[in-house]
Amino acid sequence: MTEYRKVHDEVEAVSSGKAVLVAVSKLHPYDAVLEAYSEGARIFGENRVQEIESKFPLPEQRPEGMEVYLIGQLQRNKVRKAVALVSRIESVDSMPLIAKIEEEAGKIGKTIDVLLELNSSGEEQKAGFRSADELFDAAEHIISSCPHIRLRGVMTVGPLGYDHERNWEAFTATRKAFDRVSSLSDDIDVLSMGMSADWKEALEAGSNEVRIGTAIFGERQ
Ligand SMILES: *Cc1c(COP(=O)(O)O)cnc(C)c1O
Repeated sequence: MTEYRKVHDEVEAVSSGKAVLVAVSKLHPYDAVLEAYSEGARIFGENRVQEIESKFPLPEQRPEGMEVYLIGQLQRNKVRKAVALVSRIESVDSMPLIAKIEEEAGKIGKTIDVLLELNSSGEEQKAGFRSADELFDAAEHIISSCPHIRLRGVMTVGPLGYDHERNWEAFTATRKAFDRVSSLSDDIDVLSMGMSADWKEALEAGSNEVRIGTAIFGERQ
């Protein structure tokens, strides 16, 4: 048993049924994925392409309705595999990466969903576009010039360590960036923020997708 049901019901209650729960299964075995699947989980978040490749069956061989999202930093030399293995890349954070995704998705005739990641905390070691302006320019570029990429929204990872004020600042800044880009296209309707420790604040700030690992699967090894 995982805690999927409990977390799912809490997220439903707090968001009035408006938020999607991504079960972050990184560093947990495929057995745990299947357990959560049997409890109702359908969307799984992973942060490394190699782990997805070695852990999950190929997309067409996965259980009915199972989807895998890439939520971790993506190196350009892993883009080809990522595009083939996942239905959404949530951690797109540079123009060169966008160009590479467009190229590889074009080669296999796939249109891939992406979120643009904002570095909302200003932490040096964090991934993500450094400003809402840069993120907005990238969004415009995808919409005007990348037919194999469908921009779905914006993602962020809250500040390191738990601090209510800093979380709130980061989440509301991301919410603003999302509001700006969502005016560009009707496809843009996902605001992904909130993890085990901060998902309630994220929902309060307007998130409609939370990515939760530890609270569902326990501590990672
Ligand atoms: C690991 C991870 C999560 C889940 O974190 P928990 O604290 O275990 O809930 C969410 N988003 C990203 C990008 C992650 O890498």
